[in-house]
Amino acid sequence: IFFNGWSPRKHQLSVLFSFDYRVFVNRSVTLENIKCYGFDMDYTLAAYKSPDYEDLGFELLRDRLVSIGYPHELLRYNYDPTFPTRGLVFDTMYGNLLKVDSNGNILLCSHGFTFLKRDKIHDYYPNNFIQRGNTDRFYILNTLFNLSETYLYGCLVELFTRCSRYVNCQKGFKYGDLFMSFRSMFQDVRDAMDYVHDTGILKESTLKNLDKYVVRDPNLPVLLTRIKEVAKVFLATNSDYNYTEVRLMNVSIFFSYKNPKKQWRAFFDLVVVDTRKPLFFAEGTVLRQVDTNTGKLRIGTYTGDLQHGTVYSGGSSDIVCDLLDVKGKDILYVGDHIFGDILKSKKRQGWKTFLVVPELAKELQVWTEKSLLHFSCRECPDISAIQTRIKVVTYRMDLSYGQMGSLLRSGSRQTLFASQLMRYADLYSSTCINLLHYPFSYLFRAQSVLVSFSSDMHVIINRDMHLLFHQIPC
Ligand SMILES: [Mg+2]
Repeated sequence: IFFNGWSPRKHQLSVLFSFDYRVFVNRSVTLENIKCYGFDMDYTLAAYKSPDYEDLGFELLRDRLVSIGYPHELLRYNYDPTFPTRGLVFDTMYGNLLKVDSNGNILLCSHGFTFLKRDKIHDYYPNNFIQRGNTDRFYILNTLFNLSETYLYGCLVELFTRCSRYVNCQKGFKYGDLFMSFRSMFQDVRDAMDYVHDTGILKESTLKNLDKYVVRDPNLPVLLTRIKEVAKVFLATNSDYNYTEVRLMNVSIFFSYKNPKKQWRAFFDLVVVDTRKPLFFAEGTVLRQVDTNTGKLRIGTYTGDLQHGTVYSGGSSDIVCDLLDVKGKDILYVGDHIFGDILKSKKRQGWKTFLVVPELAKELQVWTEKSLLHFSCRECPDISAIQTRIKVVTYRMDLSYGQMGSLLRSGSRQTLFASQLMRYADLYSSTCINLLHYPFSYLFRAQSVLVSFSSDMHVIINRDMHLLFHQIPC
């Protein structure tokens, strides 16, 4: 009963206990009670190969900036996957990349590719703190699409800082009578991101070289088939119909499936494109039908019942619940976007949530390999020596994740991304395929955590209650 479509002969029991295949639990979820599974597409059902895909995104962004007038020296920079970590914050006033915790305390700060020491960070941020609610100034680079953008900010600041033609100022660079502020640089990169996505050049380049950029996983049709035997399944993607069709049917998911003639839409009870998440989880947009022959939208708002095989555009999470006749609490929504997929569906609709964190495979590999360093010390305890060694080991461990360290922590402190993951994702794993390793009657039970009520009393409760206690004013 452990496997959903997986043969125990092929996959030894030990697989179940491997971190790579595990689904992690923040709050208990009983799969037996889930009546409907929803999926995002990009990076959730349809995965991209890293770092080749980020490399492509970086080149398109870099070339776009040069085409609008940025120095040709920028072309010397190639994507370096060891630099960026997801979830960094770009300070549009000072041009710094910041790693922060959930309260806005700064864990790491780089200006270009130079990592700033504590006193220098204090010069910029006297309290070692940012008001991350100031979204006009601080931009959170939350998505996997943002990785190439993150690296580009590093390149631009590095280039202008080192280039003798430009004079370094606190809020930008001077060149003759021109002033290039970090804010205008940020706006140019954001516009380039829109250009790369909206004009379709990223999609075109991806489709031209599918083997290089997309993951073809034959287990995905198996997962969707198994889920459909026990629950309803829907797809809610921000992509348009034509891209969704090409990505899902012809290339990535069903390429290796034994019955390629089976229409990809048959795996879903409902397909919604152009969802405009996170707006989809609030008031949403007009629901229209898509003409699947032309990809064009039909005029007017669709008001009828669910028609199988029909693809819809826009709409909202409330409309999806109505069409599928399910309640929000009975839905498990699987997505990779911590804000657009997980935070909003949990906070605004009370859906059960499953966050896909592709970086988890590497994070866990480093964690399991390097944490052994802590336990291999057999020398007699010497506090000062141990403290120094802990600092060295922690620093080396952080570097093993990449130059910006782990997605989830900095030393022993949690990042903003980690705190959002713990608060809003009921379940999380490196891929949604890992659901195949559990029966659909499985109870994902949250671990007990210790909550302090006073200095001399502790009560053990699970995370569901923990969340509740956060909401009760003392
Ligand atoms: Mg996605």
